[in-house]
Amino acid sequence: MFFDTHTHLDDEKFDTDRDELIASFKGEGLALAVNIGANIKTSKNSIALAEKYDFIYASVGVHPNDVAGMTESDLVKLEEWAKHPRVVAIGEIGLDYHYDEPDPEIQKVWFERQLLLAKKLNMPYVVHDRDAHADVLEIIKKAGYFNGVMHCFSGSAEMARQVTDLGMYVSIAGQVTFKNAPKVQAVALCVPLDKLLIETDSPYLTPEPFRGKRNNSSYVKYTAQKIAELRGMEVAEIAKITMENGRRFYNI
Ligand SMILES: [Zn+2]
Repeated sequence: MFFDTHTHLDDEKFDTDRDELIASFKGEGLALAVNIGANIKTSKNSIALAEKYDFIYASVGVHPNDVAGMTESDLVKLEEWAKHPRVVAIGEIGLDYHYDEPDPEIQKVWFERQLLLAKKLNMPYVVHDRDAHADVLEIIKKAGYFNGVMHCFSGSAEMARQVTDLGMYVSIAGQVTFKNAPKVQAVALCVPLDKLLIETDSPYLTPEPFRGKRNNSSYVKYTAQKIAELRGMEVAEIAKITMENGRRFYNI
Protein backbone atom coordinates (compact mmCIF):
# COMPACT_ATOMS: atom_id res chain seq x y z
CA MET A 1 0.00 0.00 0.00
CA PHE A 2 1.29 3.45 -0.98
CA PHE A 3 1.38 6.93 0.60
CA ASP A 4 1.04 9.93 -1.73
CA THR A 5 2.70 12.60 0.41
CA HIS A 6 1.78 15.55 -1.83
CA THR A 7 -1.38 15.92 -3.89
CA HIS A 8 -3.95 18.57 -4.87
CA LEU A 9 -7.20 16.62 -5.10
CA ASP A 10 -9.17 19.82 -4.49
CA ASP A 11 -7.97 21.10 -7.90
CA GLU A 12 -10.74 22.04 -10.32
CA LYS A 13 -9.50 19.35 -12.72
CA PHE A 14 -11.17 16.86 -10.35
CA ASP A 15 -14.48 18.74 -10.12
CA THR A 16 -16.32 16.35 -12.44
CA ASP A 17 -15.40 13.06 -10.73
CA ARG A 18 -13.62 13.78 -7.42
CA ASP A 19 -15.71 11.54 -5.16
CA GLU A 20 -15.71 8.54 -7.52
CA LEU A 21 -12.00 8.88 -8.08
CA ILE A 22 -11.19 9.08 -4.37
CA ALA A 23 -13.49 6.11 -3.73
CA SER A 24 -11.37 4.07 -6.17
CA PHE A 25 -8.04 4.78 -4.44
CA LYS A 26 -8.04 1.99 -1.87
CA GLY A 27 -8.66 -0.58 -4.60
CA GLU A 28 -5.64 0.89 -6.43
CA GLY A 29 -3.36 0.39 -3.44
CA LEU A 30 -3.37 3.94 -2.09
CA ALA A 31 -3.57 3.91 1.71
CA LEU A 32 -2.76 7.52 2.64
CA ALA A 33 -2.49 10.97 1.05
CA VAL A 34 -1.76 14.51 2.19
CA ASN A 35 -3.68 17.17 0.31
CA ILE A 36 -1.50 20.26 0.13
CA GLY A 37 -2.77 23.82 0.45
CA ALA A 38 -1.24 26.38 -1.90
CA ASN A 39 -3.14 29.52 -0.87
CA ILE A 40 -5.85 30.51 1.60
CA LYS A 41 -8.69 29.07 -0.48
CA THR A 42 -7.01 25.74 -1.25
CA SER A 43 -5.82 25.38 2.36
CA LYS A 44 -9.44 25.62 3.42
CA ASN A 45 -10.44 23.13 0.70
CA SER A 46 -7.72 20.75 1.89
CA ILE A 47 -9.16 20.73 5.40
CA ALA A 48 -12.63 20.04 4.01
CA LEU A 49 -11.30 17.04 2.05
CA ALA A 50 -9.47 15.73 5.10
CA GLU A 51 -12.64 16.02 7.17
CA LYS A 52 -14.54 14.03 4.56
CA TYR A 53 -12.04 11.17 3.97
CA ASP A 54 -10.31 9.31 6.77
CA PHE A 55 -7.20 8.46 4.70
CA ILE A 56 -6.61 12.03 3.48
CA TYR A 57 -4.81 14.58 5.67
CA ALA A 58 -4.24 18.27 4.97
CA SER A 59 -1.51 20.88 4.97
CA VAL A 60 -2.07 24.63 5.05
CA GLY A 61 0.16 27.30 3.55
CA VAL A 62 0.67 29.81 0.76
CA HIS A 63 2.76 28.89 -2.29
CA PRO A 64 5.40 31.45 -3.39
CA ASN A 65 3.46 32.28 -6.56
CA ASP A 66 0.48 33.26 -4.42
CA VAL A 67 2.11 35.45 -1.75
CA ALA A 68 1.76 38.81 -3.55
CA GLY A 69 -1.41 39.74 -1.68
CA MET A 70 -0.68 37.85 1.52
CA THR A 71 -1.50 39.65 4.79
CA GLU A 72 -0.89 39.33 8.52
CA SER A 73 -4.46 38.15 8.98
CA ASP A 74 -3.79 35.31 6.48
CA LEU A 75 -0.91 34.20 8.69
CA VAL A 76 -3.19 34.26 11.73
CA LYS A 77 -5.73 32.16 9.80
CA LEU A 78 -3.04 29.61 8.88
CA GLU A 79 -2.00 29.36 12.51
CA GLU A 80 -5.58 28.68 13.60
CA TRP A 81 -6.09 26.11 10.87
CA ALA A 82 -2.78 24.41 11.65
CA LYS A 83 -4.25 23.38 15.01
CA HIS A 84 -7.07 21.46 13.31
CA PRO A 85 -6.64 17.73 14.11
CA ARG A 86 -6.53 16.76 10.40
CA VAL A 87 -3.83 19.30 9.52
CA VAL A 88 -0.38 17.71 9.60
CA ALA A 89 1.97 20.31 8.06
CA ILE A 90 2.60 23.88 6.92
CA GLY A 91 2.94 24.11 3.14
CA GLU A 92 3.50 24.39 0.45
CA ILE A 93 5.82 27.31 1.09
CA GLY A 94 9.07 28.34 -0.54
CA LEU A 95 10.56 30.29 -3.43
CA ASP A 96 9.85 30.13 -7.16
CA TYR A 97 12.14 32.17 -9.41
CA HIS A 98 10.91 30.61 -12.66
CA TYR A 99 8.82 33.70 -13.43
CA ASP A 100 9.60 37.27 -12.37
CA GLU A 101 6.49 37.58 -10.23
CA PRO A 102 5.99 37.99 -7.34
CA ASP A 103 9.10 39.96 -6.40
CA PRO A 104 11.67 37.59 -4.82
CA GLU A 105 11.95 39.90 -1.82
CA ILE A 106 8.23 39.45 -1.11
CA GLN A 107 8.54 35.69 -1.61
CA LYS A 108 11.42 35.52 0.86
CA VAL A 109 9.49 37.41 3.55
CA TRP A 110 6.48 35.09 3.42
CA PHE A 111 8.57 31.94 3.09
CA GLU A 112 10.45 32.87 6.24
CA ARG A 113 7.31 33.90 8.13
CA GLN A 114 5.54 30.62 7.32
CA LEU A 115 8.66 28.58 8.07
CA LEU A 116 8.89 30.26 11.47
CA LEU A 117 5.21 29.49 12.02
CA ALA A 118 5.98 25.78 11.45
CA LYS A 119 8.87 26.08 13.89
CA LYS A 120 6.71 27.80 16.51
CA LEU A 121 4.04 25.08 16.20
CA ASN A 122 6.69 22.34 16.00
CA MET A 123 5.08 21.07 12.77
CA PRO A 124 6.69 19.71 9.61
CA TYR A 125 6.76 21.92 6.51
CA VAL A 126 6.62 21.31 2.76
CA VAL A 127 8.98 23.30 0.54
CA HIS A 128 8.42 24.33 -3.06
CA ASP A 129 11.79 25.28 -4.57
CA ARG A 130 12.00 26.19 -8.24
CA ASP A 131 15.24 27.68 -9.53
CA ALA A 132 15.91 29.09 -6.06
CA HIS A 133 18.06 26.45 -4.31
CA ALA A 134 20.63 28.79 -2.76
CA ASP A 135 18.10 31.23 -1.28
CA VAL A 136 15.84 28.40 -0.07
CA LEU A 137 18.73 26.79 1.80
CA GLU A 138 19.89 30.10 3.22
CA ILE A 139 16.45 30.86 4.68
CA ILE A 140 16.07 27.34 6.10
CA LYS A 141 19.51 27.49 7.72
CA LYS A 142 18.76 30.93 9.14
CA ALA A 143 15.52 29.60 10.68
CA GLY A 144 17.51 26.67 12.08
CA TYR A 145 14.54 24.33 11.75
CA PHE A 146 14.96 21.29 9.52
CA ASN A 147 11.74 19.30 9.97
CA GLY A 148 10.88 19.79 6.30
CA VAL A 149 10.60 18.09 2.94
CA MET A 150 11.85 19.35 -0.41
CA HIS A 151 8.84 18.42 -2.50
CA CYS A 152 9.09 17.39 -6.14
CA PHE A 153 12.83 17.60 -5.83
CA SER A 154 14.53 18.93 -8.97
CA GLY A 155 18.04 19.63 -7.71
CA SER A 156 21.25 17.69 -8.13
CA ALA A 157 22.36 14.63 -6.18
CA GLU A 158 24.85 16.92 -4.42
CA MET A 159 22.07 19.28 -3.35
CA ALA A 160 19.98 16.31 -2.18
CA ARG A 161 22.88 15.28 0.03
CA GLN A 162 23.15 18.79 1.52
CA VAL A 163 19.45 18.74 2.34
CA THR A 164 19.38 15.25 3.88
CA ASP A 165 22.54 16.04 5.87
CA LEU A 166 20.49 18.80 7.52
CA GLY A 167 17.93 16.15 8.48
CA MET A 168 15.36 17.10 5.84
CA TYR A 169 13.43 14.73 3.59
CA VAL A 170 13.49 14.60 -0.23
CA SER A 171 10.32 13.77 -2.14
CA ILE A 172 10.42 12.25 -5.62
CA ALA A 173 7.57 12.83 -8.07
CA GLY A 174 6.55 11.38 -11.45
CA GLN A 175 9.40 12.94 -13.46
CA VAL A 176 11.61 10.08 -12.28
CA THR A 177 9.69 7.84 -14.70
CA PHE A 178 10.49 10.03 -17.72
CA LYS A 179 13.08 8.76 -20.20
CA ASN A 180 15.04 11.98 -20.18
CA ALA A 181 15.39 12.55 -16.44
CA PRO A 182 18.93 11.49 -15.46
CA LYS A 183 19.17 14.13 -12.72
CA VAL A 184 16.02 13.08 -10.82
CA GLN A 185 16.96 9.43 -11.33
CA ALA A 186 20.41 10.05 -9.84
CA VAL A 187 18.75 11.66 -6.82
CA ALA A 188 16.27 8.76 -6.45
CA LEU A 189 19.24 6.41 -6.44
CA CYS A 190 21.33 8.22 -3.83
CA VAL A 191 18.87 9.66 -1.29
CA PRO A 192 19.29 7.85 2.06
CA LEU A 193 16.35 5.44 2.27
CA ASP A 194 15.18 6.85 5.59
CA LYS A 195 14.81 10.32 4.03
CA LEU A 196 12.93 9.30 0.88
CA LEU A 197 9.29 10.23 0.25
CA ILE A 198 7.16 9.77 -2.87
CA GLU A 199 4.38 11.95 -4.23
CA THR A 200 2.27 12.66 -7.30
CA ASP A 201 1.73 16.46 -7.07
CA SER A 202 -1.43 15.56 -8.98
CA PRO A 203 -3.11 16.75 -11.15
CA TYR A 204 0.35 17.76 -12.49
CA LEU A 205 3.52 15.79 -13.35
CA THR A 206 1.82 12.59 -14.51
CA PRO A 207 4.24 9.64 -14.52
CA GLU A 208 4.73 7.19 -17.35
CA PRO A 209 2.79 5.31 -18.67
CA PHE A 210 0.13 8.05 -18.38
CA ARG A 211 2.30 11.09 -19.14
CA GLY A 212 0.19 13.79 -20.82
CA LYS A 213 -3.03 12.69 -19.09
CA ARG A 214 -4.41 14.00 -15.79
CA ASN A 215 -2.46 12.73 -12.81
CA ASN A 216 -4.05 11.34 -9.64
CA SER A 217 -2.80 10.02 -6.29
CA SER A 218 -3.09 6.32 -7.19
CA TYR A 219 -0.35 6.82 -9.82
CA VAL A 220 2.22 7.24 -7.03
CA LYS A 221 2.84 3.50 -7.50
CA TYR A 222 4.53 4.17 -10.86
CA THR A 223 7.02 6.45 -9.16
CA ALA A 224 7.64 3.78 -6.51
CA GLN A 225 8.10 1.16 -9.23
CA LYS A 226 10.70 3.27 -11.02
CA ILE A 227 12.64 3.97 -7.82
CA ALA A 228 12.59 0.24 -6.99
CA GLU A 229 13.90 -0.56 -10.47
CA LEU A 230 16.69 2.05 -10.18
CA ARG A 231 17.76 0.77 -6.76
CA GLY A 232 17.41 -2.93 -7.55
CA MET A 233 14.75 -3.37 -4.88
CA GLU A 234 11.23 -4.78 -4.70
CA VAL A 235 8.45 -2.23 -5.15
CA ALA A 236 6.84 -3.58 -1.94
CA GLU A 237 9.98 -2.57 -0.04
CA ILE A 238 9.88 0.96 -1.45
CA ALA A 239 6.17 1.14 -0.61
CA LYS A 240 6.84 0.05 2.98
CA ILE A 241 9.82 2.36 3.51
CA THR A 242 8.12 5.44 2.03
CA MET A 243 4.98 4.66 4.04
CA GLU A 244 6.99 4.53 7.28
CA ASN A 245 8.93 7.67 6.36
CA GLY A 246 5.77 9.58 5.43
CA ARG A 247 4.03 8.61 8.67
CA ARG A 248 7.08 9.59 10.71
CA PHE A 249 7.47 12.90 8.90
CA TYR A 250 3.80 13.93 9.12
CA ASN A 251 3.21 12.30 12.54
CA ILE A 252 0.37 10.16 11.21
ZN1 LIG B 1 2.17 20.96 -5.02
